[in-house]
Amino acid sequence: MAEARRPATIRSVDPAGHLIARRRAFRTRLLGWYRGAGRDLPWRRTRDPYAILVSEVMLQQTQVATVIPYYSEWLRRFPSFARLAAASESDVLHAWQGLGYYARARNLHATAKAVAGTDTGTFPDSVAQMRNLPGLGRYTANAIATFAFGKSVPIVEANIGRLLSRLSNSELPIDSAAGAKLVWNVAGALVPKHDAHTFNSALMDLGAVICGARQPKCGMCPVRQFCRGVDPARLPLKRERAATKMLTEHHRFTIESGQLLLEQSQDRWRGMWILPRLREAPSREKPLYRSEFPFTHHRITLTVYRGVPVSTAPAHSWFPLESLETLPLPSPHRRAVSYLIARDRQNLCSARAAS
Ligand code: SF4
Repeated sequence: MAEARRPATIRSVDPAGHLIARRRAFRTRLLGWYRGAGRDLPWRRTRDPYAILVSEVMLQQTQVATVIPYYSEWLRRFPSFARLAAASESDVLHAWQGLGYYARARNLHATAKAVAGTDTGTFPDSVAQMRNLPGLGRYTANAIATFAFGKSVPIVEANIGRLLSRLSNSELPIDSAAGAKLVWNVAGALVPKHDAHTFNSALMDLGAVICGARQPKCGMCPVRQFCRGVDPARLPLKRERAATKMLTEHHRFTIESGQLLLEQSQDRWRGMWILPRLREAPSREKPLYRSEFPFTHHRITLTVYRGVPVSTAPAHSWFPLESLETLPLPSPHRRAVSYLIARDRQNLCSARAAS
């Protein structure tokens, strides 16, 4: 049956006019490739909106290979909206630790509470209702609509955005309003009425596997004949980023009677436990530990000094060393704590052996 034409959409996405005009042939090539080369990912074996939401939120800013074990463990620990809604923030942050960008975990927790608080306790199937839930933007709502409910809606994440920019040879920065509008319009014009979730998965996989960020494999690309990319490796263009700022932060490592002093963060890692902060580096002391980690537009040097607790703040608490595994600690601080505890134990063993 002939497909209904979409003239208004085609006009508005002119750089991809060639692609949209041949969209049926494009889909055939793409889906043929996907049937043989698509990725078998755990969240593709379910239509449960909760599981799909979890995977989509984890995949924001994080690689697939990193997400897979977290996804399985999260579903084991919090298998439904109701179970997640009933969990404490500390448990939620603990399950998320290592994935970073903890606002995602808080938003997921807030979404679960909102869903559990509705009359039916079920997740809505309309995009408009999903967008009313905390933390659900256009991409996440559309992803759940297509992957859980089979709706014919477009999705644009990093892989699809890059792929569509290259296919259109778009010179608009992908993170600008105009650049984002272009790729969303192209995705909207390409998505089929039926089996949209397969098409969207195929677009995503082609972007991830063939049209990769660093080195597009144009020689083996199934949709090469539709591609207008002139120098595709430099696309998509991005707006100039704010310069990275260097920061040094100082902390105390204090152990007494088998207990470690920790501080509950009120800002960057709100609700998580970190080594107590110092306003400035102690004079005449050498740090025990130093490491670097990135955080948004910052590169932070973490320095840790052995401490003698003169006084403790209200946000400070002592924890037995054996309980640390159950606490939510951000990765840079967990690494520092693990290293320093292991070092203390080793020093103790060496001292005993020498005496
Ligand atoms: S031909 Fe190259 S740039 Fe174009 S879509 Fe395929 S892999 Fe990407």
